[in-house]
Amino acid sequence: MAKIAVIGGGLGGLSGAIRLAKMGHDVELFEKNDRLGGKMNEQRLGAYRFDAGPSLITMPFIIEELFDFAGVRRRDFIEFVAVEPICRYFFPDGSTFNAHADRRKMIDELRSFAPAQVHAFEKFMAYAKRIYDITTDVFVLHSIHELADLLTWRTAAKMVRIGQIDAFRTVHQAVSRFFQDKRLVQVFDRYPTYNGSDPFQAPATLNTIPYVEFGLGGFYIRGGLYRLVEALAQVAQGLGVTLQTSMPVEKILHREKKICGLQVNGTMRAFDALLCNADVVESFHTLIDDYTDVRDRLSAFEPSLSGMVFLWGVRRRFDRLAQHNIFFSENYEHEFRQIFADRTPPDDPTVYIAITSKADAEHAPADGENWFVLINMPYLTGEQNWAAAVEKTRGIVLSKLKRHGLEIRDVIEQEQVYTPKDFHRLYGSNKGSIYGISSNDRRMAFRRPANRCKRLAGLYFAGGSSHPGGGVPLVIQSGKIAAELIDKQMK
Ligand SMILES: Cc1cc2nc3c(=O)[nH]c(=O)nc-3n(C[C@H](O)[C@H](O)[C@H](O)COP(=O)(O)OP(=O)(O)OC[C@H]3O[C@@H](n4cnc5c(N)ncnc54)[C@H](O)[C@@H]3O)c2cc1C
Repeated sequence: MAKIAVIGGGLGGLSGAIRLAKMGHDVELFEKNDRLGGKMNEQRLGAYRFDAGPSLITMPFIIEELFDFAGVRRRDFIEFVAVEPICRYFFPDGSTFNAHADRRKMIDELRSFAPAQVHAFEKFMAYAKRIYDITTDVFVLHSIHELADLLTWRTAAKMVRIGQIDAFRTVHQAVSRFFQDKRLVQVFDRYPTYNGSDPFQAPATLNTIPYVEFGLGGFYIRGGLYRLVEALAQVAQGLGVTLQTSMPVEKILHREKKICGLQVNGTMRAFDALLCNADVVESFHTLIDDYTDVRDRLSAFEPSLSGMVFLWGVRRRFDRLAQHNIFFSENYEHEFRQIFADRTPPDDPTVYIAITSKADAEHAPADGENWFVLINMPYLTGEQNWAAAVEKTRGIVLSKLKRHGLEIRDVIEQEQVYTPKDFHRLYGSNKGSIYGISSNDRRMAFRRPANRCKRLAGLYFAGGSSHPGGGVPLVIQSGKIAAELIDKQMK
């Protein structure tokens, strides 16, 4: 039995801690905040309850597998609810489109929205599934950095087909070859944002994401997504993990290219291995002395999108809205150029609104709704003025909603705002990024930090900034990959 510390209680850390405990190790988890979950967070404002981070669960089988591994039944802890429609899209020309994971409903919707595009959608889904089938084993379920993993028959067979993953076009280039209707191009261009990337730069390989959503479904968790954090904490404790909140790790201690322990909350502690769920780039800058070459290499990677979130307790109900809604910008390419090239808040942002009170009425008063409003934002450069950006963006969003017939200015009775600075402060994410490192560079699938640190023996990483990347299912999978590597090393 090895003594293992987990730094950070985000989903990647909790996933790793549960598995390591189940494998028989002595696991202690240190979280700097006073609550677990990291970016999967919850907020209460007056009579309103909000999920303040993720709002959509994809690839639920990855969560299912974690509960199975722990030896408990997922349905005893949380209930998945299919989101229907999966998203309601509002376009600047006033048209709306309901996207459904149910194929028959989606085809029916397309028949009335853009009948000429039904065949294009079928072809696009077949293409997206093909990419999913090739890439999931290689880039998501296993470590891409461990030779032993790459040499399994299953993975090697997929590697042979790697030329078919459309890595040389951008997402936008590929999507616009399938669809002629500009509105549908915008819908399918949206998916790289699920891992914080730019559709006009990221490789078309990310077109696997629409298959994940439409082919495998998108889910909500009854009571709010934060129920998942509570469930994982309970499972971890049941397996003997010591969960310590308000315990910031100050230093990762190492000697002769090997980790030896931690300085946590002013105390030195010895450990055999460390699973770091804190952002890799931040960790090399703030927790690990020396290794300046690693720090420099990591600093060169482009962070993912950040965001601005408005939590609005709205004292009115809007039947026109679904649980998940998108209000698109006029010019998506300009929006992303502002975000990634100019690194300024977009002047005509796409606005995402998730309302859990549509599914769980008790999340808002009977005559109200709990709006989680997310706008894509650039990562921190040190030059942006976020107080001014909040004021400006708030006005732009309210005017946009008004143009769509949603007048809410006078009915917002609760408000909380998160800017990229808050994401950095709260979760220690590199430059306030919300998904770790972006996939704008087509080589990133191979270059993203590995789950096993090659330079410091005994140090492992799980979370959005390490392999296989950001988003709920992927970080949970990263906890699995890291835990298996640690267990193998400790035997
Ligand atoms: C607004 C928003 C919306 C999102 N929407 C979705 C969505 O709909 N679907 C989806 O799949 N994903 C979504 N995501 C992304 C998803 O939330 C993240 O990818 C995922 O939760 C990150 O998990 P992680 O394991 O990387 O850990 P994190 O959540 O980054 O947690 C890391 C933890 O480490 C702690 N920590 C850092 N440094 C230290 C230290 N020195 N000592 C101790 N503890 C430390 C932090 O406090 C934090 O709790 C969203 C994210 C945000 C912010």
